[in-house]
Amino acid sequence: MKRTHPARRRLAVTALAPALGFVLAAVDARPQASPRPQGLNAGTAQAVTPFRMFDNLYYVGLDFVCAYVIETSEGLILIDTLFGDFAGHTADAMEQLGLDPRDVEYIIVTHGHNDHYGGLKTMQELTGARVMMAEADWELMESTIRGNGEEDALLVARDMVTVDGGTLTLGDTTINLYVTPGHTDGVTSLEFSVFEDGEEYEVFMWPGPTLNSNDAPALENFVSTIRRLETLARPDVWLHSHPWSVSFFDKYERLAARGDGDPNPYVNPGEVPVFLAQRLEDAERRLAEAR
Ligand SMILES: [Zn+2]
Repeated sequence: MKRTHPARRRLAVTALAPALGFVLAAVDARPQASPRPQGLNAGTAQAVTPFRMFDNLYYVGLDFVCAYVIETSEGLILIDTLFGDFAGHTADAMEQLGLDPRDVEYIIVTHGHNDHYGGLKTMQELTGARVMMAEADWELMESTIRGNGEEDALLVARDMVTVDGGTLTLGDTTINLYVTPGHTDGVTSLEFSVFEDGEEYEVFMWPGPTLNSNDAPALENFVSTIRRLETLARPDVWLHSHPWSVSFFDKYERLAARGDGDPNPYVNPGEVPVFLAQRLEDAERRLAEAR
């Protein structure tokens, strides 16, 4: 079904990113399940110029880890907050895009790993936004921060708890939320609509496509999640919380180079079943070895 997106502030096309040269050269261009480019990790992470992906979706992340902003009729929703020296990067990126970080009403943290929550306290204090995370990952984040003695720098008061099958509505936008354990126990997937030229596209964001563990319980969770996603996730646009696994910057390069009327390269429904089948095969093999 198509519906026209309400008129929103129109921004000039964002200047393209010279800083991306390094990233683009390093990213594997295969359409799905790309491995992480060699040498790309939290320690080497670099900012990339923020850009608009669709009328109501912006990229405000790094080359190593993603952060996104959804623009609604009643304010902004920030998805993940980066970390370390980049704790305030999403705010700077919003300003570069003509968005006001103080318009952020909600921050959704996809899971309780530092590269996603490390900027949370900075951004929560700056925006006054409500914070959403699944119960298990509030616990994971809090215990990690306390274990590292980083309470003063990083700990925020527990706020909203994301539940599986829940929704978040802000203005004209509703996000469906799913707790999809595997990468962590509370990793949260998001489903929402984006718009371009009056067309509506469904986004599914699975922030947990990689496994941290070869323990059987984690692998079993991961396998169950993939089986669930095989029926649940039929999106036009497939996003994760790290860019390489969806050839994110390869698509960016094509987005930046496209001409009038060319399709948005982030619209690529065919990659999803292939990706999930590959991940399932890998996880089942590892589970068989673990048992
Ligand atoms: Zn993680």
